[in-house]
Amino acid sequence: MTNTPVIAVHGGAGVLRRGNDRSREQQRTGLLRAIEAGRTAFEHADGCTTAAEAAVIAAVEVLEDDPAFNAGRGAVYTSSGGIEHDAALMRGDGAFGGVGAIRGIRNPIRAAKAVMDDATHLLLCGEAATVFAREAGCAEAEQSWFHTEFRYRQLVDAVQSAPRLDHSEYDMPTGTVGAVALDARGNLAAATSTGGMTGKRDGRIGDTPVPGAGTFARDGLCAVSCTGRGEELLRAVAAYDVAARMAYSGLSLYASADATINALPPETGGLIAVDAAGHVALPYTTAGMLRGFARQGESPRVGVFEALE
Ligand code: ASP
Repeated sequence: MTNTPVIAVHGGAGVLRRGNDRSREQQRTGLLRAIEAGRTAFEHADGCTTAAEAAVIAAVEVLEDDPAFNAGRGAVYTSSGGIEHDAALMRGDGAFGGVGAIRGIRNPIRAAKAVMDDATHLLLCGEAATVFAREAGCAEAEQSWFHTEFRYRQLVDAVQSAPRLDHSEYDMPTGTVGAVALDARGNLAAATSTGGMTGKRDGRIGDTPVPGAGTFARDGLCAVSCTGRGEELLRAVAAYDVAARMAYSGLSLYASADATINALPPETGGLIAVDAAGHVALPYTTAGMLRGFARQGESPRVGVFEALE
């Protein structure tokens, strides 16, 4: 059976302010570039088991290198002024790799891929994850590579309050990144990458790299990448919850994704999901969510507030 490949991406959910056209344009451009990178990777799946896996890695890598997003370069600061990344990759056949609170690796999704390929463990964290990624040949980067003035200002402002998602008083609200894909052979894959929450405690790990919480894929069902308040998404095992509703209740992708996101506390975040038939769901409960998708051969659709599916 041949499917029409489809890729969906997100650039985070939060209390996004309407009307900042310049930063919004940067973010839209970033999402379009990520979609294009993913679509190209469907055809050149070098070093990957499936084209879907290659597509989600390529899309997330573009967004990690883009300082307009809270992942890789442009990540938020921890309470002590450090930068710690979480990232995960899952194929629909069950292969999984994740890294938590990793420092100094330019593309954390590459470190997650190295954990997946090593196939001994599913999730590595902290200094040991950095050492593992370095030994696996992942490119390193100084903190100056990841630094952005905007994120540092966010930390300075946040030190006296609880960890938070991007919030409205800033000019350039941006977030966590993720991608989900279905390839022509029916393989599903999901990838997510983040700097986490501004002012988080050092060593804090959110939903992103935890299998089933922020990232999940199962062939025949769906692939899901979440964004939003990590503690709530972890508690709900949100990404797996979408798949479970489909598997056990026979719900459609749309109904499952909607039920999952609306069962969370108000304004927790959003998710992107694709199912084995190529349907796409992009629900959120925050004021906005940067997201987009494209089927092979069709123009991409990208937006923040508008319905896209
Ligand atoms: N879910 C991420 C975390 O809690 C944050 C985000 O999606 O913006 O680490």
